Amino acid sequence: GRKFFVGGNWKCNGTTESVKKLVEVLNQGEVPSEDIVEVVVAPPFVFLPLIKSLLRSDFAVAAQNAWVKKGGAFTGEISAEQLVNLGIPWVILGHSERRALLNESNEFVGAKVAYALEQGLKVIPCVGETLEQREAGKTMDVITDQLKAIADKVEHWENVVLAYEPVWAIGTGKVATPDQAQEVHVDIRKWIAANVSEDVASQVRIIYGGSVNGGNANELAHQPDVDGFLVGGASLKPEFIDIIKAAE
Ligand code: 13P
Repeated sequence: GRKFFVGGNWKCNGTTESVKKLVEVLNQGEVPSEDIVEVVVAPPFVFLPLIKSLLRSDFAVAAQNAWVKKGGAFTGEISAEQLVNLGIPWVILGHSERRALLNESNEFVGAKVAYALEQGLKVIPCVGETLEQREAGKTMDVITDQLKAIADKVEHWENVVLAYEPVWAIGTGKVATPDQAQEVHVDIRKWIAANVSEDVASQVRIIYGGSVNGGNANELAHQPDVDGFLVGGASLKPEFIDIIKAAE
């Protein structure tokens, strides 16, 4: 059994006041136990220590990015070893916003995954196609290239949760249908079975991201290959608790 996983990606949002309020709401939320669901929230770097200190102990924190190698003269970057030093267990890597806006290539994301895993972080690498790529029938070609660059660098798959986030569904309100999500998750699992191993394919969690909310989470969660969610906008609202409850 793959334990359901729900990540909240807060992106570049929040003030000290608003994130404290959000944590209060999360801390009071009634959610399934830790054997049923694993919950991780990813605040902006500047709030990581604060959120780590305030957040309920059954939820964990994640960073939204990390530098590709050991820290040093890289102005504005945060290294994986600094995250480890702060006791941050998880990091999101290769989010489509960073791929698109900051030109992170497949190889760069793969190198980040490799370095973060080496340092002892657990990673949530993100893959997904644009609308143009989907309409051109290239969804799996794009995802395969993204996946290959990541999979080449992974030895310990137990420290990886893969996020499938179709770019056209992110922040658009156009959630993938349960069938669309299931289809790509199955294809990703097949690729892993063929290119990594059957064991890894059956054990690795593949989570869906893109306009997940309290209203659509249940139906998506019922798909056999959807093992959880990576939530943006709705993770900043009390509704995040309802999404976590979809684990049951
Ligand atoms: P939205 O849930 O706001 O569409 O964002 C999804 C996402 O990018 C999570 O990483």
